[in-house]
Amino acid sequence: MDLRESAERMAGYLVPWLPRHARMFYYFRLLGSARFPEIIHIENTNACNAKCIMCPRDELVRPIGAMPMELFQKIIDECATRPEVKEMHLHGFGEALLDKRLAQKLRYAKSKKIRKTYFVTTGSLLTQELGRDLILGGLDAIKFSFYGASKATYEKIQRQLTFETSRDNIRNFFETRKRLGRRNPSVTMQIVPMPENQHEYHDLRAMWEPYLDPACGDHFEDFFLHNWVDGRTYNPRDAWKRQRRISCSMPFHLIQIHWNGDIGPCIYDSNGTLVMGNVSAPGMSIASIWEGETFRAFRAMHRNGEFEKIATCNNCDQLRVVETASPPAPADAPAPVEITVLS
Ligand code: SF4
Repeated sequence: MDLRESAERMAGYLVPWLPRHARMFYYFRLLGSARFPEIIHIENTNACNAKCIMCPRDELVRPIGAMPMELFQKIIDECATRPEVKEMHLHGFGEALLDKRLAQKLRYAKSKKIRKTYFVTTGSLLTQELGRDLILGGLDAIKFSFYGASKATYEKIQRQLTFETSRDNIRNFFETRKRLGRRNPSVTMQIVPMPENQHEYHDLRAMWEPYLDPACGDHFEDFFLHNWVDGRTYNPRDAWKRQRRISCSMPFHLIQIHWNGDIGPCIYDSNGTLVMGNVSAPGMSIASIWEGETFRAFRAMHRNGEFEKIATCNNCDQLRVVETASPPAPADAPAPVEITVLS
């Protein structure tokens, strides 16, 4: 362990108790790592009933599945002992509501006092009964992906879904929350502006505005298109060549746990090419993987800007860039090495 890691270890005791902006400065600017991931993304399933045009799932080559309850409980049991955990995201590269045990999993997480439980969904499968279960189960936040104010636009973008079904399910969810007299979950209505729906942007906001309750923390959010590493080409892939690149900071404060227990440092790596270990393996834990040699080496490469050593990151539009006068990368630069390590 070098001097920097020793300093981080000491800082790790203090950082979880700092206000959010101070913690973000530590992760984003200083590239200091948390003692334990602050945000845990659990992909309960990577199955999906939609084929949204901007989603990289059509490039998915890893198996489709759902996380077993026993593995979910193992993850929650460990996280419940860690005050560093601030948020638990219950979705990944799929439709979270396709996991039939989602409400049961949520209740388990809340019974263990997990703080902010949250997931993103299209709402296409959100029946009134399920909505009630999630609200009474203590879900803290939910985000609806709804990208068209008209049937034609919605179904052109969120392919295989039905406009009226998703719209009515989401409306009913707001009404159920009100009827139950609950303030949870806070609702985010997400809009992804894109050429296909930009003419309906204001209609979309007008459509949902009457349902949002600021007292519950409801709000709109615009989410801008990106490449999902190499799943799409919304941003130019070689724009970095004349620029100095700085880490996206994800490996310093969060993890993505795939349904099979693989732990990655990145929420955009849809195919799971970056695997730091598997938490379902006997004797493995989030802590042992987070502090393990593979994860530490990965963070060191990010901190040192050695992205050409990591093929996935080298191709990613999420690295922060700083303009420099330096020449483009030489054509004979060493070939990127793909990191795929399973413990
Ligand atoms: S650089 Fe891109 S691929 Fe690498 S960890 Fe960050 S977001 Fe993920």
